[in-house]
Amino acid sequence: MDKELFRHQIEVAAKEKKAALVIKHAKVMDVFNQEWLDADVAVENGQIVGIGEYEGEQELDAAGQMLVPGFIDGHVHIESSMVTPAEFSKAVVPRGVTTVVTDPHEIANVSGITGIRFMLEEARKAALNIYFMLPSCVPAVSFERSGAVLKAKDLRPLYQEKEVLGLAEVMDYVGVEQAEEDMLQKLLDAQNENKLIDGHLAGLTDRLINVYRTASVQTDHEVTTAGEALERVKRGMYVMLREGSVAKNEKNVLPAVNEKNARRFFFCTDDKHLDDLMAEGSIDEQVRMSKKKG
Ligand SMILES: [Zn+2]
Repeated sequence: MDKELFRHQIEVAAKEKKAALVIKHAKVMDVFNQEWLDADVAVENGQIVGIGEYEGEQELDAAGQMLVPGFIDGHVHIESSMVTPAEFSKAVVPRGVTTVVTDPHEIANVSGITGIRFMLEEARKAALNIYFMLPSCVPAVSFERSGAVLKAKDLRPLYQEKEVLGLAEVMDYVGVEQAEEDMLQKLLDAQNENKLIDGHLAGLTDRLINVYRTASVQTDHEVTTAGEALERVKRGMYVMLREGSVAKNEKNVLPAVNEKNARRFFFCTDDKHLDDLMAEGSIDEQVRMSKKKG
């Protein structure tokens, strides 16, 4: 961020200057203490800079309506919706989803780095915060001939893109377990860049979960039972509750979630077709489903 802009943000937060926008009289969700606040929310340059009493150049009266953070889809292949990121955003933003973490695995499978760069460019045009994890296994299996092969050296330059958060769904458990040269390099590159690593551990044993944790894999979205979820949380992983067009796991994994471990779980759609997004929704539908289950 530009230094002058940074200074300006602080001055607005300190109430020395008026905020560009203040939302007044809202019930503000405090997600950390899990309670509602009666407060104004000050926004400057697209960033919340204050919660309390503020004056703004523009003031918006929320008249007691609830003000909550947007939903985040923790892992999604936008290509599975069969539309571009900008069109995808039109389906999910009205549902309250304001951020997604995407893995352009499907397009990378056939178009390689060109496909990933296309998605990065298109994502910048969307009315949605779109972050990226880099496809770790292209092709998904060694005998697949879908068109592209991505090695560690091909992925490395992409870590310089500000939207790239890490390495996506590491599914080649044989490669991880046997510490194969290129897989090892991909995992190390992500770590050396201080990036995150997502797993893909369907049906793996405790021994392999230990291997994945040692390889710094932090998440899994392939969990299908509450028992599998707890095995991963026990070892410090985060588990995604997945509900897509085909893979529907939320209902079966939910019993694992309790007050003590709830912060180790989050939602994702993984693969959801556009018609399902339009008809059912996205993360909003998952929140409704969880609420119904108590
Ligand atoms: Zn996936």
